[in-house]
Amino acid sequence: MSTRKHLPTRTRVLVPAAFLLVLAALAAGQNGAPKSSCSECPVWNRPQPPFRVYGNTFYVGPHGLTSLLLTSKAGHVLIDGALPESVPQVVANIRSLGFRIEDVKLIVNSHVHFDHGGGIAELQRLSGAEVAASPWSAEVLTKTGVGKGDPQFGSIPPVALVPRAKTLRDGQTLRVGDIELTAHFTPGHTPGGTSWTWKSCEGGRCLNLVYSDSMTPVSAEGFRFTDSREYPTAVQDFEKSFAFLRSAPCDILLTSHPDASGLWQRLEGRERGVRPDPLVSPDACKELAGRASEQLRLRLESEKGHP
Ligand SMILES: [Zn+2]
Repeated sequence: MSTRKHLPTRTRVLVPAAFLLVLAALAAGQNGAPKSSCSECPVWNRPQPPFRVYGNTFYVGPHGLTSLLLTSKAGHVLIDGALPESVPQVVANIRSLGFRIEDVKLIVNSHVHFDHGGGIAELQRLSGAEVAASPWSAEVLTKTGVGKGDPQFGSIPPVALVPRAKTLRDGQTLRVGDIELTAHFTPGHTPGGTSWTWKSCEGGRCLNLVYSDSMTPVSAEGFRFTDSREYPTAVQDFEKSFAFLRSAPCDILLTSHPDASGLWQRLEGRERGVRPDPLVSPDACKELAGRASEQLRLRLESEKGHP
């Protein structure tokens, strides 16, 4: 005989309702904040006041994950959506700059891991924007949430799916109003990684901006960059990406994790009045290529002893 049969009618109704409330509370986290996606996520998701990087380029992400707004009179572009739980911050940051999420016409990404692409589905829903991505990333964003062949496959949560994503070619330029944004496929960290270049102007001075995707050889346990069956071109893909960084016209470098390009020290310098502006650093892309290439060398070296 089940216990449930003995419960008065009112309690039988209340039990499922109470259960749903508990589930909702668990999903919302302890203080009503959205549930965190990973152990480092609360640190990455620390609030960051938005600021103008240069001209029509604004930083609108949380402190640890870059999200960029490129504005035009005919609508805006958003690059990267950070974590699912970052979305309220990104939207509020856009509004506090005097722009509207509803005017974002295009959303693109660096790579489709939950910490850069996790917020895209919700940001797309709020804006009605078109989403565009490399073929590999578009497949992950619309179908699988996490890609086979991803060095971190098995160790990361999937991204929320978007209903549609336009597929890009390497070197393709996208236009929204007077924004011209070019996609450069920079695989390695994931097979679909993409970096972006565009120009922003202040007065008559136009600078080349580069948003570099992650260039780090990070993987799930057991993955080998040297000879992965799931991702056999990983090493040559990284080399292609480093070559892009070495050759790209690069006045201001921004990276998917701001720390990878020392953004906060550079911003602090700017705010202290250091001139020339520490954010403008034409060697930054080449220096990042050098650091990333050394990290890959060390990783491949460490794989030699572990077949
Ligand atoms: Zn990643």
